[in-house]
Amino acid sequence: MAQVNAKCTNCGENIIIDDNKEANICPNCKEAFITEKAIKLLNENTYKDKQVLAVKKRHIWKSLGKGLLMVLECIGYLFYVLFFIWLFVDITDDLKKK
Ligand SMILES: [Zn+2]
Repeated sequence: MAQVNAKCTNCGENIIIDDNKEANICPNCKEAFITEKAIKLLNENTYKDKQVLAVKKRHIWKSLGKGLLMVLECIGYLFYVLFFIWLFVDITDDLKKK
């Protein structure tokens, strides 16, 4: 007798079942199900969850990369503007001296 994690094929609830029995009864919905199918269902869902998580993570990194590029771009523009302000101040200073 071994207790394993599974997912009910009727109600989708995560349950712990005895994998020595060919069929079990769900404690949540009281419906009978095939043990192997319930274990398989849980594994498939965990795999899907991991895949979804991996896609989400990739999306977050992409967004972060885009954000960082935007910040760098803004800093670049800021220096551009500062350079022209400095140039303007320099020219007006020169004019004042003359
Ligand atoms: Zn159930």
